[in-house]
Amino acid sequence: MSAPNRQNLYRKYRPQRFSELSGQEHISRTIQAAVASDRISHAYMFSGPRGTGKTSAARLLAKILNCQNLEQTPGGLPDCCRVCDNCRRIEEMNFMDIIEIDAASNNGVEDIRQMREKVKYRPAEGRYKIYIIDEVHMLSGSAFNAFLKTLEEPPPNVIFVLATTDPQKVPATIISRCQCFDFHSVSRRTIQARLEEIVKLESAEGVFPTFETEALAMIAECAQGGFRDGLSLLDQIASSISEQPVKLDHVLKLTRRLSYTTLKEVTCAIFSHDLGQLVKLLNELYSLGYEPLTIGRDLLEYLRRCMILKIDAEANQLLDLPAEQAAEIKVQVADLQVRYIIGAVSRVERALLNIRNSFQARVLLESELIRLGLGDEIFTSEAVEKRIEQLEQKVAALRKIAARPSAVTPAREPAVPVTSS
Ligand SMILES: [Zn+2]
Repeated sequence: MSAPNRQNLYRKYRPQRFSELSGQEHISRTIQAAVASDRISHAYMFSGPRGTGKTSAARLLAKILNCQNLEQTPGGLPDCCRVCDNCRRIEEMNFMDIIEIDAASNNGVEDIRQMREKVKYRPAEGRYKIYIIDEVHMLSGSAFNAFLKTLEEPPPNVIFVLATTDPQKVPATIISRCQCFDFHSVSRRTIQARLEEIVKLESAEGVFPTFETEALAMIAECAQGGFRDGLSLLDQIASSISEQPVKLDHVLKLTRRLSYTTLKEVTCAIFSHDLGQLVKLLNELYSLGYEPLTIGRDLLEYLRRCMILKIDAEANQLLDLPAEQAAEIKVQVADLQVRYIIGAVSRVERALLNIRNSFQARVLLESELIRLGLGDEIFTSEAVEKRIEQLEQKVAALRKIAARPSAVTPAREPAVPVTSS
C-alpha cells in the first residue's frame, strides 16, 4: 500500500501541546509550572537518547512562551492554545523567532559569531526569540568558548535550548549556566499504545494499512525507546507492504529480527542439550536469509533477559517485556543455574566479536552454540568446584579427628577416607 505523497508520520504526529509529549511528563510539568509562575530560565539543556522528543519539546517551549492565549489544563497548568496567530505560525514552521541550528554541520567558531551578531536584535513577532541548538556537543572548543560569552551575558527575551544525545561532551562551564532536563527512553508499552492510536487514525483515512497487534509490538520493540524510530519504521513498513493487515512476519522480514518464539525455540534446544534440534533450527534460519551476526545479536539479547529474570523474577519493569513473555522465560530458566546462563551470555558475546573477523561466521556461531548446548565446559568447572568442596569437608573432618587425644595412637586408619567416593 504505497502512498508516496503521504506526510511523514513523525512530522504529522509531532506533539503540539505539552500534554501530548508522551513519556516525558516529568519535563512537561516542570516547564508548564515555570511558565505559570513566570520563572523562565534563559538557557536550557535537553539531553537524552535519540528520538525521545528533545527538539519537539524545544519547539513546544517556544510555542508556550509565545502563545497569546494560554489554555489552562484540567491540572491547572498552562498549555499552548493552538489557535492564536503565534501558535499557528509555529505549527506551520513559519515563525521568525524560532531559529534552529544543527551543530553537527555548523560547529565552528564563525557559525557561533554569526549567531551572536543576530542574538542582540529583539524578537521579530513574538515575546521571546528561541535558539534551538541541536546536537550541541558537536561544537568545537573555540565555538563553545564564543558561545559561553553569550550565555554569560544573555540578551533579554532570548532563550537558548541546547539539545544533545551526549551531554558528557558539553563543557561544564556551559552546563552550569543551563537548566538541565534528562529525557528518558520511552517504554515499549507507551510506544506501542501510540502506534496503535496512529494506525487507527491513519487507516480510517483509507490510505494506510491496518496492523496486527504483534506486528506493532515488534515495531515498538525495534524503536528501542525512541518515538521517532518507531514512527519511521511504521512509515517504512506501511509503504513497502502491499497486503493488509500487516503481520508480525512482515515486520520480522523487513527488520531482519528474530521472533520471540524462534528465540525461545533456539534457547530451549540449547538448554535441553537437544543438539539435533538446535542444528535444524539454525539451518532453517540460514535458509530464510538470516545472517549469523543477526542471529547472535538477537540471541544475546534473549539470553540477557533470561539472566536478569533468573537473578530477579520481578525485574520485568527493567526489561519492559510483555508480561506473558516474562512469565514464560521465568519458567524456561527455573531449573538452570545463574552461572550457566552468565556463561552462555559471555560465550555468545565472544562469538559476536569474533564473527566480525571470521571467514566462516556460520561455522563459528554454530560451533559456539553447539558447545553451549553440550554444556560440558561449564558443567566441568562446576563439577570441579563441587569436588573441591567435598574434599575441603573431608579435610575439615580429618582435622577434627586429629585434634582428639586418641588420634596420637599410631597405625590407625583415618575415619574418613581421602580417596574419591
Ligand atoms: Zn496560542
